[in-house]
Amino acid sequence: MTERTIRVFDTTLRDGEQTPGVSLTPAEKVEIAKALDRLGVDVIEAGFPITSKGEQEAVRSVARAGLRAEVCGLARADKADIDTAIGCGITGIHVFLASSDIHLQHKLHITREQMVRQAAEAVRYAKSFGVKVEFSAEDATRTDLEFFKQVVRAVSDAGMDRFDIPDTVGIATPQRITEYVKAARSVSDVMISMHCHNDYGLAVANSLAGVLAGADQAHLTVNGIGERSGNTSLEEFVMGCHNLYGWRTKIDYSLLYETSRKVAALTGVVIQPNKAIVGDNAFGHESGIHTHGILNDPSTYEPFDPSMVGRTRWLQAGKHAGRHGVAAQLRAMGLKPKEESLRLIVDKVKETGDKGVTITDSDLYQIAVQIMGGGSAERNELVELEGLEVVTGIKRLPTATVKLLVRGHLYEATEVGSGAVDAAVNAIQKIFSNIETVRLKDYRLEALTGDSNAVADVTVKLEDDAGNTASGRGMKRDIVVASVEAIVAGTNALLAKKLETSGSEKTPTQSTTGPIEGV
Ligand code: MN
Repeated sequence: MTERTIRVFDTTLRDGEQTPGVSLTPAEKVEIAKALDRLGVDVIEAGFPITSKGEQEAVRSVARAGLRAEVCGLARADKADIDTAIGCGITGIHVFLASSDIHLQHKLHITREQMVRQAAEAVRYAKSFGVKVEFSAEDATRTDLEFFKQVVRAVSDAGMDRFDIPDTVGIATPQRITEYVKAARSVSDVMISMHCHNDYGLAVANSLAGVLAGADQAHLTVNGIGERSGNTSLEEFVMGCHNLYGWRTKIDYSLLYETSRKVAALTGVVIQPNKAIVGDNAFGHESGIHTHGILNDPSTYEPFDPSMVGRTRWLQAGKHAGRHGVAAQLRAMGLKPKEESLRLIVDKVKETGDKGVTITDSDLYQIAVQIMGGGSAERNELVELEGLEVVTGIKRLPTATVKLLVRGHLYEATEVGSGAVDAAVNAIQKIFSNIETVRLKDYRLEALTGDSNAVADVTVKLEDDAGNTASGRGMKRDIVVASVEAIVAGTNALLAKKLETSGSEKTPTQSTTGPIEGV
């Protein structure tokens, strides 16, 4: 098969932003657009200018950001829409008009003939501005196939550069997509694009089927965000193209994970843990059989090397754990238990896991040190909590002062936050800001009994710059103390891992927060 290069039309900032509850400021759109440009997308659909003044400002800002990618704006097949979009300084325009009888009769109240005329007129008008014109026959996959061909012919004759086939309500199958792509190809030589929705979980499969049938480009969103069940997920589609079909794209795959996290952070749409490529668990392993295989040769239970998409694999202890996995996890934290101790550690891990308890890295570390050394694990800790004070209430900013002993040096920081826990977390982050990057990735709180005297069970997941992750737990009647203890425990596990991989240790150099020895 000849090598093909598939174009990426990113619509995170337009269809992705149509996710219920998501609204991006112009500054946030520019930040995401820059990340998409670094990632290597061909087209950035920055927004739908006619919708609001803020949207116009956003599209204008993205267009002015000096990006390599084509910056595109959406417009209905209407002069005012097209003028507004063009006024934003874009280099491409995405014009759409529905072609299905359902939309023509119940939404647009126009005939098929009127639709064809309006579409061709809009394309000709948009083209007169000298920009790239992509036309979408909205709800294409529910359009009568013969009429669909008539539409493709008319807009092609009008000078359109790219024809997009939207599966607007996500009802197509790969077979149906193939039919429409072939129909479009049979009447026009223009570039063909796919726009799929994930209502049946088929968006990626349908987009790939479109490309297989001859489409040149796909509309994608980072993390698959979008209306209802979302759009075709960019990371899944491009990895499928590259790894499964051997097609090229211009994407720098190693940036997929950080781009995904940036979009999640700025849109507030969290990524499900089992999401392909970018989900937390995509390269995580717990079962003994799998971890053993992975440790012998990662290809046994991994579809591809996680570093390809900027990630690292992680192992977790639990009731499915085996000796090889647990030993590898402990090795990563600098512990090398003898055969007999390892057996006892695994037994304890399984016993704890059987109670339905998640075993964090800090729990595993404690279990191992207790079994190996017979004593307390404290003396091995790199970070210890020395003090914590919190002031909170209404009409005042929650403030926390945290004192940490880091490798024998005392550090203190005071920070405010949106709540007491947030303030305490900010104070910890401040202390660590010049030592290591310790980022809080996940925070979970459970109350173990039903009253206000309940034990707060806090589990956190932390991550450093190298992508290493470690989890920690804190259980206390005081929710702030439990949270801080969980972070301290997780930090210890993370630093132990880092020490083991780098073989060196850094000490804090920050002057504003310490060290304040003698306090
Ligand atoms: Mn859509």
